[in-house]
Amino acid sequence: MIFHKVLEIYSKYYICLHCVGRMFSLLGTSTTNKKRGYSLLLSLTMENHRKYLSNGDDQQAEALKYLKILAENAHFLPAQKVLENEGIEYSEKHPYQACYICHDIFSNIDNYINKVKVKLKGIEFNNFLVGSSPDSQIINNEDKFKTEFKLLEAEAFKSHFNRKIGKKLMVMLKKTPEFNNPDILIIYSLSFDSFKIDIIIKSLFIYGRYNKLIRGIPQTHWFCKNCLGKGCEQCDFTGKQYLTSIEELISPEFVKESEATDSKFHGAGREDIDVRMLGTGRPFILELRNPKVRNLNLVYIEKIINKSLKKKVKVSNLKYSNKKEVIKLKAESKNTKKTYKAVVQVQNRITKEFFEEKLRKLKTIFENQKIHQRTPIRVSHRRVDKVRKKIIYKITGKYIKSNLFEFTIETQGGTYIKELINGDQGRTSPSFSEVFKIPLIFIELDVLEISI
Ligand SMILES: [Zn+2]
Ligand SMILES: [Zn+2]
Repeated sequence: MIFHKVLEIYSKYYICLHCVGRMFSLLGTSTTNKKRGYSLLLSLTMENHRKYLSNGDDQQAEALKYLKILAENAHFLPAQKVLENEGIEYSEKHPYQACYICHDIFSNIDNYINKVKVKLKGIEFNNFLVGSSPDSQIINNEDKFKTEFKLLEAEAFKSHFNRKIGKKLMVMLKKTPEFNNPDILIIYSLSFDSFKIDIIIKSLFIYGRYNKLIRGIPQTHWFCKNCLGKGCEQCDFTGKQYLTSIEELISPEFVKESEATDSKFHGAGREDIDVRMLGTGRPFILELRNPKVRNLNLVYIEKIINKSLKKKVKVSNLKYSNKKEVIKLKAESKNTKKTYKAVVQVQNRITKEFFEEKLRKLKTIFENQKIHQRTPIRVSHRRVDKVRKKIIYKITGKYIKSNLFEFTIETQGGTYIKELINGDQGRTSPSFSEVFKIPLIFIELDVLEISI
């Protein structure tokens, strides 16, 4: 019986209306914990008032006892007024007593609201989420209380607090709470007599495609192999193996515009340093950490980047993205179709007829077939040594000169093209060199198309 439990609680402790309501929070919906608490105490007052007015000494005495608990221990005004009107004296115990469970945290919510305003100054966000971490004293106190009175329908302190703050902030900030993917997290660290607010700004993700129009730059920055980034004579004290990278060329404009602290570049695979990325470009997602500005003018940023990196790097298709898409991008990059253009040389001259004959053979052997590729020697220091099976979809070829040819090769993502051509000392099989029966010397490579 709820009424008995409430009277049992108040004969021992004072708790505020918010907390008494929370102890029965799973009962009755579409109301607040404070209203729940008030209704409980009001019903109790009314019922005992009725009993007091009815005849029968036994009932009257009990009703009086309960009305006094409500007036004295719960400091409940309607019960106090009933007693006053009936001319019955009562003495409020500790009229300024704090709530045993929350130490009046719930009665002073505005305190917790006002401080956020200052913290959020200068941060742009579209939605938010409130979180809290009450200290062990608050948690233990409440757990003990629930056990003592066998309260099974109570709501946790945390969720009550988060919701109450969230509702108030919604009105104050004119922004909606977002539970799955909030722009910012407002975290309260609570103890009975103090609190701290931390604002966690979630990363902003921008999707785009990049073209690498020149050779010799890596996708992301590489630390100097000698000093591992500290700076040494070998790297001219830059700490870098290469002067710049796609990442370092693209990111600064985004970091500047979003006022982020830093950024992380996620590419859908990567091309070798000496390979160009042409066509519609390679998908990437740039993660901007701690951005103070989230609503960026992507058209403007694209223009600025492309103007300053003219003939080196180009970005396109910029749009907002999220963390889930980063994971998808990484996973899908292995299953894409890629089209390459490879320029190849031979030492001894060959005739056009010989080339055409070998090209026909290449088509029969490779097209829509799987090749076996053991991890190439050149990357074996950083990749696991294993054999990968990759599909070659289509091959076309062009005889440029008696010792210079061009191949266009459509393959499954992750195929090592240089090795497909030169055979990598038998580690890739079959290979173009194997079919030509002469060593093909790889000259240069472009990625023409990535289909994602
Ligand atoms: Zn309370
Ligand atoms: Zn160095």
